[in-house]
Amino acid sequence: MGIWQKIKSALAGFMAGRNGVDNLGYASLWTGLILSLADSFIGTGLLGLAGTALYVYALFRMLSRNCYKRAAENNAYVRWRYQFTTQMKQFWMRLKNSREYKYVNCRQCRVLIRMKRGGGMRTLRCPKCGCEFTAKS
Ligand SMILES: [Zn+2]
Repeated sequence: MGIWQKIKSALAGFMAGRNGVDNLGYASLWTGLILSLADSFIGTGLLGLAGTALYVYALFRMLSRNCYKRAAENNAYVRWRYQFTTQMKQFWMRLKNSREYKYVNCRQCRVLIRMKRGGGMRTLRCPKCGCEFTAKS
């Protein structure tokens, strides 16, 4: 067995039962890197400290043996990221279509309804709760 094989198997033995790198770990590392780089331009030291704290947090998560808790944190992060990116995509789509369509919220359930612009007052029917209301298009 070569030296690299020995190192590889020793590392695998060390990491057995530990959390390793997950989405939140990557996000912590990237955010830490960005904060550290930003601090090298600004030079306050505060952002660099925050970046280092994120590195330490990512390392703690990688080496943690409490995989159940780390997985729950990772799931919460992934859920939040999905909601955030979906909201951003929908926002840009609404902005892109804002000349052609108008977006109004349902009076009862607050769901967003798209209506074509032009034509004055219109009666809308919510596809979710079925309530009817009028809105200016
Ligand atoms: Zn509704």
